[in-house]
Amino acid sequence: MGLEEKLPSGILLTSVEKLAGYARKNSLWPATFGLACCAIEMMATGAGRYDLARFGMEVFRASPRQADLMIVAGRVSQKMAPVLRQIYDQMPEPRWVLAMGVCASSGGMFNNYAIVQGVDHVVPVDMYLPGCPPRPEMLMDAILKLHDKIQDQKLGSQRAREIVELEQAALVATPTAEMKGLLR
Ligand code: SF4
Repeated sequence: MGLEEKLPSGILLTSVEKLAGYARKNSLWPATFGLACCAIEMMATGAGRYDLARFGMEVFRASPRQADLMIVAGRVSQKMAPVLRQIYDQMPEPRWVLAMGVCASSGGMFNNYAIVQGVDHVVPVDMYLPGCPPRPEMLMDAILKLHDKIQDQKLGSQRAREIVELEQAALVATPTAEMKGLLR
């Protein structure tokens, strides 16, 4: 099935924003970055059985300067937080962050002084993925949902404003450790 068969009279109208979103979502390169057990599932996702190559994402970049997706796979210790932020700062714009697993998303069962209670206290998160550990299928589902988000993302100054708002919201948010849940 060729694209030309789907287009009436061979004409396609779209916006620059949509075209940029389409190109970006289909050319994501993740940074090689794993923190704990979740990273094993992330590696499995890139291997042959689950085949992240279907989405052109099998190349995990060794340098953050060549990556635009940070998959935070595992718990983030207080000691690791500045390193994580430095890697994020070295990634070129546009960039996205996926918090993989309950530890990266909220600290999970590690409700203690050594673990950051959610990586959104350190970097702005675009997609949260629950589970301990999330299966490779779940990671792929989160990536596809992130693709949808990227497709509809704003460009330029509007995106910059969106990131600032995300960071501000994270800074004033109630720390996860102070939230009352079933286990606390
Ligand atoms: S969510 Fe589970 S598998 Fe992932 S880092 Fe935490 S303890 Fe490990």
